[in-house]
Amino acid sequence: PESLARAESLIRTIPDYPEPGVLFRDITPLLADASALRDCIDALIEPFAGTFDVVAGIEARGFLLAGAAATVAGVGLIPIRKAGKLPRPAAAVSYALEYGTATIEAHDDITAGMRVLLLDDVLATGGTLAAGHELVAHLGGEVVGTAVLMELEALGGRALVPDTHSVFVA
Ligand code: IMP
Repeated sequence: PESLARAESLIRTIPDYPEPGVLFRDITPLLADASALRDCIDALIEPFAGTFDVVAGIEARGFLLAGAAATVAGVGLIPIRKAGKLPRPAAAVSYALEYGTATIEAHDDITAGMRVLLLDDVLATGGTLAAGHELVAHLGGEVVGTAVLMELEALGGRALVPDTHSVFVA
């Protein structure tokens, strides 16, 4: 639809951030626009309507989408944070980055049988979303879906999280 095309046009591409050779997709202008934000939140969760009990957002930009999505959907929100940020983590999953590893953690507010919609801003290599999926499953949650605002197709992340719903593909 036209409104989503306008929203997509608000995503800014920044060359050489955070390091030389990387094209960084910056969603902050989209977030700053009321109708673009609302249209994107609707498009992000629409395929999963009525199927989830909670949204889980991955630090940091996933939080921005998850907060809005939870309110629109009328469900709660669970943050998945980088290691060391949560006061009482119940589970942790480590995953490979281009250089080194990263670890994400969650509280046991994700409980057995809870239906979780997992959200992040960008799908790149897929490592982050796959780790989030594993973390929710480890706590007994059921991942009903994974969704991102933008998928960077050339990086092939879909291989790790095949059914991910992406609002935009670049
Ligand atoms: P992946 O694990 O390689 O799929 O990387 C995805 C994670 O890195 C997400 O949490 C994103 O927030 C972040 N990320 C990777 N590339 C970009 C980008 O171009 N813009 C914004 N975030 C990005």
